[in-house]
Amino acid sequence: MALIERFQKVTDVTYWEGQIPMSYIYTVGRAGEKFFREMINGKIFGAKCNQCNLIYVPPRIYCEKCFERLEENYLEVGTKGKVHTFTQCYETYDGVRKEVPSIVAVIRIDGTEGGFVHWLGEVEFKDVYFGMPVEAVFKDKKEREGSILDIKYFRPIK
Ligand SMILES: [Zn+2]
Repeated sequence: MALIERFQKVTDVTYWEGQIPMSYIYTVGRAGEKFFREMINGKIFGAKCNQCNLIYVPPRIYCEKCFERLEENYLEVGTKGKVHTFTQCYETYDGVRKEVPSIVAVIRIDGTEGGFVHWLGEVEFKDVYFGMPVEAVFKDKKEREGSILDIKYFRPIK
């Protein structure tokens, strides 16, 4: 079949296997830069929309509701939040079965909109519930590198 001919049946479509070597740099953006730089200091930052009276975590440069510019409105939001949703993870990123499953949750920082995915620690899966109060446990300061993984996990607030 020549390249200019049209396929008449989807079963005529063929494929070939191959690999495309690719390298990339993912930029975190201007709001993300503030967020990750403050992680090194053991702080979680958001961006406040004064029009809507909402604080977004992670921070954004525009309000998604009114499009107000938020870059001048970054603020520290504390390290406490609630479990918005959660599940158990039985495999590593590489598909290897874990001996002990980890608990993954969406954490919403108190008083803010949005949230982010992170691990839960110092808790059994059977004891986790929606709305459970949690707090961030950061790595030692010398181990932080401006990553979401500067937070080791979130643990229940007793
Ligand atoms: Zn707004």
